Formats: sequence, structure tokens, C-alpha cells
Amino acid sequence: MSRRKKLVRAEFRRTVFERDNHTCRICGSKDDIAAHHITDRTLMPNGGYHMSNGITLCPECHIKAEKFHTSGGRVWEKGMHPNDLYGLICSDHETAVLSCRRYLDHCNPYPPRDPHEAEYT
Ligand SMILES: [Zn+2]
Repeated sequence: MSRRKKLVRAEFRRTVFERDNHTCRICGSKDDIAAHHITDRTLMPNGGYHMSNGITLCPECHIKAEKFHTSGGRVWEKGMHPNDLYGLICSDHETAVLSCRRYLDHCNPYPPRDPHEAEYT
């Protein structure tokens, strides 16, 4: 894994855990918490590594939340649909997609240069 990818992952976990006070947003447990991707990484720009797509979950609740992804969105536990999880963190799918897209640009060390830049230097 590249250094940049590691940093993006670490920042995702840090911001999600801090916002959620290091507590599972479903049951309140503080043990072995993980930063869950509400919309699966494969379906998001930048792998969905922005806090608007993340929620803190304990291992037990994480397994329940993953059911939506592992079933291809066909089944989910009550209260564990992605829209339910977005609701808990005051986000939604559209906000998460836009934030992840912006975050990708923000993380790019070589953003597109202004074509007129050379004229002013
Ligand atoms: Zn939990």
C-alpha cells in the first residue's frame, strides 16, 4: 500500500472516531471499534475515505452493517440500511459522494496547473 493511501486511511479513521467520540453509534460500545464505510469503497470516489461516508461501529454491529454489502444490497438488518447509518451521522449518499470526490482532489499532490500560471512567474 502506498504511503498516501495509508495516510488517507489513517485520517479517515481518526476523523470518524473523533466525531463519534470513539463509540459505536449503534450500541454505544467502545471496544474494538472500526470505521465502517457506509457506501462500499468500490462504489465511491477515492474509495469512500471521507468521514461523511464513515461511521464508528463495534465488531458485532459492523458484521450486521456489512450484511448489506455482502448481499449486494438485497438484505440488511433493521436500522442498518446505509440510509439509516447516514442519518445517524447527519450525512447522505449524495453528500458523501461529493465530499469523497473533493477530498480526492484535495489529496492529489499534483493538482491540474492553471494553464496561465507560467505567464505570471
Ligand atoms: Zn455496536
